[in-house]
Amino acid sequence: MTVGVPIDAVIVDAMSVAIGQAREAAVAGEVPVGAVVLHHGQLIVRAQNRMRRDHDATSHAELLAVRGAAAQLGERHLAECTLVVTLEPCAMCAGAIVLSRIHALVFGAWDDKAGMCGSVADIVRHPRLNHRPQVLGGVQQDECARLLTDFFASRRASEVVP
Ligand code: ZN
Repeated sequence: MTVGVPIDAVIVDAMSVAIGQAREAAVAGEVPVGAVVLHHGQLIVRAQNRMRRDHDATSHAELLAVRGAAAQLGERHLAECTLVVTLEPCAMCAGAIVLSRIHALVFGAWDDKAGMCGSVADIVRHPRLNHRPQVLGGVQQDECARLLTDFFASRRASEVVP
């Protein structure tokens, strides 16, 4: 299910930065998801979920990372970039990954409710689409998943009226 992207120190470091972004998002009350973009192995963009702060349901970490990388490179196609994100991308972000022609996608936790990169469906490797990035899922997945379960557990706890 995962081919083509070797897990090396660069990827592991990038995921650690993405996890840091997710933690910052949680502190701001956002669902903790973080993302970074590597260009030839160099980290050029970091992003985190901002739906709550932006009042925008589309302010997902991956989408913001893709837009940030394109702006920084002055290039709408990111053929020499790797997107590293803590959670399997949704339909919108999977679409953005295809449209921006990202070379490789690395993600942490699987999302069996909304993940569109292998769980619910597989948009990024759909045979009818004209771009298919290399995909590697499950990198540091325990830590990435724990961010989310801890966040939702604490949110539920805070909703309980004593
Ligand atoms: Zn998304």
